[in-house]
Amino acid sequence: MTNFDLAPLPYAYEALEPYIDAATMHVHHDKHHQTYRDNFVKILESYPDLTQKTLEQILTELNTLPVSEPDRIKIKNQGGGFVNHNFFWSVMGPEKKIDEKLVEEIKTNFESVEKFKELFTQTAVGHFGAGWAWLVRNQEGKLQIYSLPNQDSPLTLGHTPILVLDVWEHAYYLKYQNRRAEYISAWWNVVKII
Ligand code: MN
Repeated sequence: MTNFDLAPLPYAYEALEPYIDAATMHVHHDKHHQTYRDNFVKILESYPDLTQKTLEQILTELNTLPVSEPDRIKIKNQGGGFVNHNFFWSVMGPEKKIDEKLVEEIKTNFESVEKFKELFTQTAVGHFGAGWAWLVRNQEGKLQIYSLPNQDSPLTLGHTPILVLDVWEHAYYLKYQNRRAEYISAWWNVVKII
């Protein structure tokens, strides 16, 4: 497996039921995620040198990559879609694997886990259109919650992703239709690390 293969989901498609249904996981991973990956690999055919880098390096160095401006935007969108979904699958799971150190840090920064979840939820519900809600560690080492549009990656801002939620409609439309808030509230049940 190279850096640029699509990894299988780290659990069964139905593992996140009933909160996230198997049909959504199939279309989300096998169609949407696969397409971002395939489009990304296609763009890289014009830039063989870039295949020496990791996917994460490419998004981190996005603004200085030796590529044409239209291709920079394509790499942002398709490479971002590829790396963001990899990370999204990894923060979820059928069993909790709580990061106690992170939980302590969240309590220090956001008063309590409940308060943190409230803020993160508000950010995700309030994001207009397609995008993602993020908990990141910024360049000063502080935890920060924000949302980014489309497939923009915090890596490009020099931030380290810690938790992420996909609020594109394709992430929830099959089961929740337009009820994004309901999807988000269900999603907390399958967040592994908090
Ligand atoms: Mn998605």
